[in-house]
Amino acid sequence: MLTSTTLQEQYRSATADKLRILIVGAGIAGLTAAGLLRRAGHHPVVIERAPDGAPPGYMLALMPIADSALDDLGARAAYRAASVPFEDYGMRAHTGRLMRVDSMSRVLGSYGDYRGISRGALIDVLSGAQCPVTLDSTVTAIAETESAAHVTIAEAGDTHRLEFDLVVIADGIRSRTRDLVLAGRPVDVVDTRWGGWVAWAPERSVPPSRGEELWGAGRFAGLYPVAGAVGVFLGGPRSDTDAGPAAFVREFRKTLSVVDAPIGAALDAVAAERDPYYWSLSDCRAPVWTTRRTVLLGDAAAGFLPTAGIGAGMAMESAWVLCRMLNNIDGHRLADVLSAYERTQRPRVQAAQDNSRQLARLMFKRSRGLAVLRELAMRIVSVDIALKPIQRLVAEQPEPDEATASLR
Ligand SMILES: Cc1cc2nc3c(=O)[nH]c(=O)nc-3n(C[C@H](O)[C@H](O)[C@H](O)COP(=O)(O)OP(=O)(O)OC[C@H]3O[C@@H](n4cnc5c(N)ncnc54)[C@H](O)[C@@H]3O)c2cc1C
Repeated sequence: MLTSTTLQEQYRSATADKLRILIVGAGIAGLTAAGLLRRAGHHPVVIERAPDGAPPGYMLALMPIADSALDDLGARAAYRAASVPFEDYGMRAHTGRLMRVDSMSRVLGSYGDYRGISRGALIDVLSGAQCPVTLDSTVTAIAETESAAHVTIAEAGDTHRLEFDLVVIADGIRSRTRDLVLAGRPVDVVDTRWGGWVAWAPERSVPPSRGEELWGAGRFAGLYPVAGAVGVFLGGPRSDTDAGPAAFVREFRKTLSVVDAPIGAALDAVAAERDPYYWSLSDCRAPVWTTRRTVLLGDAAAGFLPTAGIGAGMAMESAWVLCRMLNNIDGHRLADVLSAYERTQRPRVQAAQDNSRQLARLMFKRSRGLAVLRELAMRIVSVDIALKPIQRLVAEQPEPDEATASLR
């Protein structure tokens, strides 16, 4: 549970630590890092811009790469209780017809859990019984010197200038804190020019343990099970979604010859929502992840397109790798550890991001002819082949202890 605490109170505990750590952003990456560091005896200061904690948000399918973090947090049982298995993946044609159902358990099951969970439930799992966070707070300046990072923090209208040894920047895909440390170096962005809405459909809108996607001509629908509900995403080119959810749903419906229960539930869920969350489908890749006293983590370092469903898993894995490395060494090797972290994790994360970008080129098509050709190919190409690069990443977990062995 997130416990709202003042900045001064958090900082008082942190000043006694060998490494005074600030975590910016109480999202998936920031909370994973906070939990892992606290379990190792640190007292990181966690700040969050939202005045009332992270928004409950949307559905997440979590790859087994999240398991090491969950295990080190002692949270695997709580995670399993708050999530549902994602065992099968159903693929629909642009007409709405269900073309095939593949077993995700066969592709990923041997590596660990593949499960669906709402963002709110995952935040609860990661924050455990108690997780102090200072809400309504952001960083407005960072100045690094030989001895410390001097950080200016705006907390609910007050300004504080505090010293830290390390600043973990985990404030998401549109990170503002990232801009403070990149000093004008550009972030690489792939913008699909697509976007869409997220909504909740009733539980059992799809058969148990099954997620489904419809890749249409200028239309996309996804249904993903979580505990007690099904997360829905409906999207298309922004030039079409500009018409608003109700008009978009009406047009979408006209392109379908099959509107069975799952597809009907997805369309109804978005149409019924008064002000559904709009997700603009672009990603980001920071040119560097670390300075001597700062590190970009999660989406702030590399924010994902949704196509491979791996952003949150990668954010948790990266937090686990970073914290394992930090917990292995003394503060005086901090810059070396951050470099080792970037060397270990950046190529992995960028490989996953490359795969998401490739899938986006395949998925986000407007032409009906191309959609039909894609469907013909999909008769032969199973989910195993599409997810091969991701499967390889999942199979080859990083070894943070080995990567820091020479630094101890
Ligand atoms: C609709 C949707 C569906 C998704 N589905 C999947 C999926 O199925 N599987 C998957 O693995 N991933 C999925 N993702 C991606 C996943 O959510 C992200 O990769 C993951 O949340 C990244 O974690 P993060 O901690 O880096 O960022 P976030 O979880 O976004 O957390 C960032 C936090 O920082 C806070 N913040 C922002 N700015 C500031 C600031 N200036 N100062 C302080 N705090 C700040 C935010 O309020 C937020 O709490 C999905 C994303 C969306 C939007």
